[in-house]
Amino acid sequence: MTILSGPHLWPASRAGATLTVDLAAIASNYRLLCDKANTAVCAAVVKADAYGLGAEQVAPVLEKAGAREFFVAHVDEGIALRKIVSAEARITVLHGPRPDAAAECVYFDLRPVLNSLEQVDLWKKEVIRQQGALDAVLQVDSGMSRFGLSLKDVQTLAADPDCLKGIRTNLVMSHLACADEPKNPANEMQRQRLLEMAAYLPSAPLSLSASSGIFLGSAYHMGLVRPGAALYGIAPNSDETNPLKQVVRLQARVLQLRNVDAGDGVGYGLTYQPQGPRRIATVAVGYADGFSRQNGGMGCAWFGDIRLPIVGRVSMDSLALDVSDVPEALLHADMHVDLIGARRSVDDVAAAAGTIGYEVLTSLGGRYYREYTE
Ligand SMILES: *Cc1c(COP(=O)(O)O)cnc(C)c1O
Repeated sequence: MTILSGPHLWPASRAGATLTVDLAAIASNYRLLCDKANTAVCAAVVKADAYGLGAEQVAPVLEKAGAREFFVAHVDEGIALRKIVSAEARITVLHGPRPDAAAECVYFDLRPVLNSLEQVDLWKKEVIRQQGALDAVLQVDSGMSRFGLSLKDVQTLAADPDCLKGIRTNLVMSHLACADEPKNPANEMQRQRLLEMAAYLPSAPLSLSASSGIFLGSAYHMGLVRPGAALYGIAPNSDETNPLKQVVRLQARVLQLRNVDAGDGVGYGLTYQPQGPRRIATVAVGYADGFSRQNGGMGCAWFGDIRLPIVGRVSMDSLALDVSDVPEALLHADMHVDLIGARRSVDDVAAAAGTIGYEVLTSLGGRYYREYTE
């Protein structure tokens, strides 16, 4: 008898699904983005546990592929990452310092993004406490109205040079709201706005682009690009074919097979009612595993080249597939089917569920057996 503690440690033979993360594909995607970004530094965004794929496994692979700059959202993500990457790697915290975490930023060598005059002030207090200059990124709001200094804020800073005394501004950044729509004029407006606002701040390299922005052309590369999603295989936009390698495969276990016929119903609400004889497989992935209920009656799985429609509603721990097209001899309980795989990308699953690949990845559940290939 094997007794392992914690859901991540379920043996493959007992987990409802195996999630395979292709680390070589992540490294290859990183290199492709570096090439694309040309002379700009290519950072790697590993917030939210590397978009749900496991920062502990993913970040060292990115570092080996050449990444020296890492971005996380929270200070505590930065503290955790500091133990994973080498001391030479620079870690930037997007949400910036908090009054209760400024000292930790210094102790763990985390560079904060300063998003408001309050955060500038807070970091200046830390400069005084540490009796030495400290690095920081200044973020300006170029139009998304999410994070960053306003035009009035940067003018305030420009009017009083003392405000930034002791703060080494080594990057000025902003974030695009519509980068996945290459023709959207908001992109160029935000770019112009960043240039205008940066003129009020100490001279430093600029950064505007995350994954999608890298594909808007060289004017958007500036000093540093900050891809996350593209590293993990998500398409930068829907206009072009996805140049990135798929990273994730999700193989779900079939728990039970049954025959249904006209007059039967499948799943909660009996929303699927076959017109004639069908073969149904119940598989061990449900919405508690982060596989959205919106996939019910919309999405599909694949068994080799055979498409298996998801029928009826997705339950908490299972969903139903129509496997009528699979030859009987190949069907058996314990067989696996691909919910994400060569024939079905993360973006496909997202489209069926009315969401984006980012949400599909960051929702991937804790009950999967996780396998990393290099
Ligand atoms: C999440 C995030 C990124 C990475 O975005 P992707 O679209 O995943 O490449 C870059 N910059 C900021 C400010 C972010 O919040």
